[in-house]
Amino acid sequence: MTATIIDGQAIAASIRAELAHAIRGAGFARAPGLAVVLVGNDPASKVYVRNKLKASAETGILSFEHILPEDTKEADLLALVARLNADDTVDGILVQMPLPKHIDERKVIQAVDPAKDVDGFHPVNAGHLVSGMPGFVPCTPLGCLKLIKSVRHDLAGARALVIGRSITVGRPVSLLLLAENCTVTMAHSRTADLAAECRQADILVAAAGRPRMVQGDWIKPGAIVIDVGINRLESGELCGDVAFDEACRHASAITPVPKGVGPMTIAYLLANTWTSFRRRTGLHKLDPGT
Ligand code: NDP
Repeated sequence: MTATIIDGQAIAASIRAELAHAIRGAGFARAPGLAVVLVGNDPASKVYVRNKLKASAETGILSFEHILPEDTKEADLLALVARLNADDTVDGILVQMPLPKHIDERKVIQAVDPAKDVDGFHPVNAGHLVSGMPGFVPCTPLGCLKLIKSVRHDLAGARALVIGRSITVGRPVSLLLLAENCTVTMAHSRTADLAAECRQADILVAAAGRPRMVQGDWIKPGAIVIDVGINRLESGELCGDVAFDEACRHASAITPVPKGVGPMTIAYLLANTWTSFRRRTGLHKLDPGT
């Protein structure tokens, strides 16, 4: 079997194009606004922020960039978040993680107004997801679901394995798959026999941050494999959590790294910002289907 490669870059581009069409076409009094806060000099974070700002601009979303030094005090960051919460031109607030060690990430996440929490990390939004209520869902998990559904629309009854249980990726992915009526197993670093769990999965989402950990012969023939991992090897090469070449011989469909999940995360950040704008301006009442 040779797997279909799920083209996250193309799917993300079509989501961004639809958003740009909706945002630019409607002639609102103001553009949707996204505030992006970066603290410190983490090179990967700088790249992510640059890509997010570029994609925002191309979609017609106004971005407000706040680049703060590494030694920014927690209180000053919290004060900035409070100002952004109060700013009516800001629909979405993204504080790029990880933050420097002297800042408590949980405090910052909880400081963001849940109505502007386009990352979906605030406990109020996490609670909405658990309860099946409308709220903001984290962007990477939304991207994973869209990629899975690009190759299999009805997921009811499928056995899904999610490797990783972080609040940003693994847990929300599991909840989204549960809402799609999958039978979901969550694996983590204490899982007794990961290979055996993988071999049962019709849908496998790997989000552990362990380069090429999932081997080809762990994959159930015909499975859909979503590789969330982004790992930089000593050679400088990027790879996922799945041994891609081997996996292609077993899976029916698989995402590459890069150009798989990564672009989807940005597309859903923009989609969440658009949703926030519509909710905050009352537009969603005219358009309940989206
Ligand atoms: P975390 O480090 O927060 O979580 C990793 C999870 O993987 C933990 O639950 C951990 O288990 C589990 N894990 C670690 N080692 C193993 C193992 N050997 N076997 C089974 N489970 C294991 O990472 P994130 O969730 O933030 O990110 C995961 C990966 O996804 C990273 O590579 C990250 O770079 C990437 N990522 C990609 C994004 C994208 O846009 N493509 C966006 C966000 C993340 P335990 O809980 O027991 O410690």
